[in-house]
Amino acid sequence: MSRSLLALLLALGLAGCAAQRPRAAPPAPVAASVDVVRHGELWTADFHLPRPAPAWVFVHSSATRDGELPWREHDWTVETPGVRLERRGRFDLLVAENGAPVPAEVRLRFRPFAHDLLSDSAPALAFSTGAIALFSRQFDLFALSDPAAAEQLPPDLSGPNLDFTRTRASFRDEAGPILYAGRRVSSISLDDEDGTYVLFGPAAPRVSGGIAAIIDPALPAWLRDALVRDTPAILGHLSAALGPPPGAEPVLMVSWAGPTPRRVAMTGSVLPNLLQMTFEGEGVLRENPGLRDHALWFIAHESAHFWLGEAVAYQYARDAWITEGGADLLAFRLVSEVEPAYDGRAELQKAIDDCVRISAGRGVAAAEESGDQRASYACGTVFGLVAEAASHRPFGAFVRRLVDENRADRVLTREEWLAGLTRVSHDPSLAADIARLIDQGAPDPASVIASLFSRAGVRYARAEDGRPRLL
Ligand SMILES: [Zn+2]
Repeated sequence: MSRSLLALLLALGLAGCAAQRPRAAPPAPVAASVDVVRHGELWTADFHLPRPAPAWVFVHSSATRDGELPWREHDWTVETPGVRLERRGRFDLLVAENGAPVPAEVRLRFRPFAHDLLSDSAPALAFSTGAIALFSRQFDLFALSDPAAAEQLPPDLSGPNLDFTRTRASFRDEAGPILYAGRRVSSISLDDEDGTYVLFGPAAPRVSGGIAAIIDPALPAWLRDALVRDTPAILGHLSAALGPPPGAEPVLMVSWAGPTPRRVAMTGSVLPNLLQMTFEGEGVLRENPGLRDHALWFIAHESAHFWLGEAVAYQYARDAWITEGGADLLAFRLVSEVEPAYDGRAELQKAIDDCVRISAGRGVAAAEESGDQRASYACGTVFGLVAEAASHRPFGAFVRRLVDENRADRVLTREEWLAGLTRVSHDPSLAADIARLIDQGAPDPASVIASLFSRAGVRYARAEDGRPRLL
């Protein structure tokens, strides 16, 4: 019996949000290139390697979520004689026999691998229509002078001595146009850093509310209907509150991995202007409000990052409360609006409770830096509640002004956020207390938060243990 059958699993494979990283260094020069072509059932990848090297390392080599196994060795076949795929440490490599350099032209044949990975986007998404979406960056590789050195490479490939360059990947389908960024094109060539999904085969994007949704028609109807109805509403509300989205029209891709027994799972990932979700399990066949709410929260939170994260980013990672808490409060408000059965107040209360716990004797910034990601979500939401109440307007209005004022330099600093709070509240003590929670925490954070709520006008009562309880 496979591991996936053993547990009733609500796999929320959404570890952290990638949408608001600090901006990366200038792009590395393009080195290798690859032509990926679908010929009906057969897929080929022709690599063009710019110089001789004993090994080429695949950047995206994360193991599978189920079983933690390498995935290329079963589904990728090297056709070029004398070249093989090899697993070294955490990475897949192309190497030549007898230590010779890998030739300049290498052809692989592959089956798209449509399963979740531990720490990366799924290499492919399979739709019940036969359409396949490929993650564009799965072909990225770089040269290594000694294959054995791959065993010492750090998982994130940080380090000074790597010959790290960009791979240009081109995609084409012999059967006709492919879908890129919501539009049909005959082929596309990509060398961006974050990647996207390029879709091969039939799909009719449903464009509404400023988002193009591609939802597997076999997805259980209760869930498909909720996504079709609520996703444009969420994006429409966001655009109305925050102004036009900053980038190209966003795309939502939702695939259905089938009714695996004893499982109810949703996984998702976020790429620039693209949200991707996969549902799986017999538990998804029945209407499940918790799963629906979580899916809508995911869409709302991640879409909010198109503004709070992409249009403006935070300055330092320790300031992630600005974008995570901001996106969460926006999401709780939005989902409550579009889905009346959703209990947004319970989520807000959870944020308050978690922030009280996290900031006891320790600053929110220090908690974030020590890896407690919940700190930014929970306390950022609490700070947003203070700004919302103090401004006597929806939280979106507070965010919109901050986004608009910082679109030019694309950075929203902590000082700018706190100054925005003082501007709407005319009470500098709010910003001062929040700054202290961020830097030092408090011996009794429940009292500090209660006092913030009192001054800002958030309605609450104190629970027996002193925690502020929203009314
Ligand atoms: Zn986020």
